[in-house]
Amino acid sequence: MSKVKSQFSDELLKKIESLLLEEKVRLEKEVAKFSKKTNGSPDSAFPDYGDKEDENAAEVAEYVVNLSLEENLEKSLRDAIQSLDRLKKGVYGICKYCQKPIEEKRLLARPTSSSCMSCKKTITQEA
Ligand SMILES: [Zn+2]
Repeated sequence: MSKVKSQFSDELLKKIESLLLEEKVRLEKEVAKFSKKTNGSPDSAFPDYGDKEDENAAEVAEYVVNLSLEENLEKSLRDAIQSLDRLKKGVYGICKYCQKPIEEKRLLARPTSSSCMSCKKTITQEA
């Protein structure tokens, strides 16, 4: 049995590749900014506003926001890298649930999509 291959035009794949590369560069910069700010350790993401109770609350709030922002950035970066990898292997744009090609419009709007619109819908409804 042959593996499912992308059925997209070279033109579309080229476009997607440059979108993903742009996204990857942008995200790498963002992540680097964060690591600089936090010195790569989660503890130093903890801001120090002062020792009063409301200041401590503000510190905790910002700490949580910093952490989740960083997590989101790193996840998006991983998605972009994985999409580029799938592109290289010729399996880009295949829905991971139904193994059918993902809609071109969806891929152009969100090049890191790994599921088609109808599967995404089904999952969202179930969740
Ligand atoms: Zn699907």
